[in-house]
Amino acid sequence: MEEIRIVRTTAPKEKPKDESKLGFGQIFTDHMFIMEYAEGKGWHDPRIVPFGDIPMNPAASVLHYGTEIFEGMKAYRTVSGDIRMFRPQENIRRMNNSAERLCLPQLDEAFALKALDTLVELEKDWVPHSEGTSLYLRPFMYGSDPHLGVHAVHNAVFVIICSPVGAYYAEGINPVKIIIESDDVRAVRGGTGYAKCGGNYAASLRAGARAEKKGYTQVLWLDGVERKYIEEVGSMNVMFKVAGKIVTPALTGSVLPGITRKSCIELLRSWGYEVEERLFSVDELTRAAADGTLEEAWGTGTAAVVSPIGQLCYKDTEYVVSGGQIGEITQKLYDNLTGIQWGKEPDTFGWCHKVC
Ligand SMILES: *Cc1c(COP(=O)(O)O)cnc(C)c1O
Repeated sequence: MEEIRIVRTTAPKEKPKDESKLGFGQIFTDHMFIMEYAEGKGWHDPRIVPFGDIPMNPAASVLHYGTEIFEGMKAYRTVSGDIRMFRPQENIRRMNNSAERLCLPQLDEAFALKALDTLVELEKDWVPHSEGTSLYLRPFMYGSDPHLGVHAVHNAVFVIICSPVGAYYAEGINPVKIIIESDDVRAVRGGTGYAKCGGNYAASLRAGARAEKKGYTQVLWLDGVERKYIEEVGSMNVMFKVAGKIVTPALTGSVLPGITRKSCIELLRSWGYEVEERLFSVDELTRAAADGTLEEAWGTGTAAVVSPIGQLCYKDTEYVVSGGQIGEITQKLYDNLTGIQWGKEPDTFGWCHKVC
């Protein structure tokens, strides 16, 4: 691969002063990484340039056929002052799996990591300092073929943008209310559920909006064939503690293989918990919620790390989980994972990748 060319901005923006008001994905740093792909030529002209609009042909594949994939990851400023990413190789590998599913080109994994490292190092002063904050990284790729013919893409663009984000739990970890969705589905086996693609999100927005209107934070998705098995919660994976054991939906193809999910499973097993990755039906869940064997429920994902579930609604029946409080294991997972990410706990699994 060619060297990464760097064109620095001549008009650096002011960094946000009040880190308690960062929110999520509202502001962007001074620079972005971009490179193009053309069949026969491969990826070329990798460069870091001032953050700004991307010119696009109105016939571009992504605008008509949804040829888009993305990743979500964070760079953290640790207590010792260095800047780290959490398991970035896993995100890059997953992006290649997503690319394969959508007929987008493969990335060279070592080069993609170098692109992330180079960009984060250049933007290191944008990594916020306050507890719980981070620099959110959004790598994405889209098909840019300027023709309306329907076929695998021959041209693509890969971009990384960065956004300083606030503490997810600025007001403390509050368990959320979830509604189980019986009509819309997010993904089906054989479809694109395991790929992190924009289209899956487009399909999920209607149910999300309906849930919000009824006062719920997220939707619990059921499988697309039988509307029977639990899949995910919002855009997070989901885990339950039932009679002392941890249960999480198996990666059957319609579930996104979360890196937080994988890290939680590895941590839980290292603590001696039994973790079952299997089909888990909504009937089994509501039975456990009704008879008191459902001890805890939580979502897992990069943005929140873990998100405790305090209440579940299914077909107009409400179930309270953990007395509406954060459960013991949920709290322990949160403390340990964020402790590793912020350098407060030893990184015994070798998950952290130091940037600078
Ligand atoms: C990104 C994502 C997740 C969480 O994955 P992490 O790697 O843990 O951030 C879960 N479900 C969906 C649908 C996602 O897009």
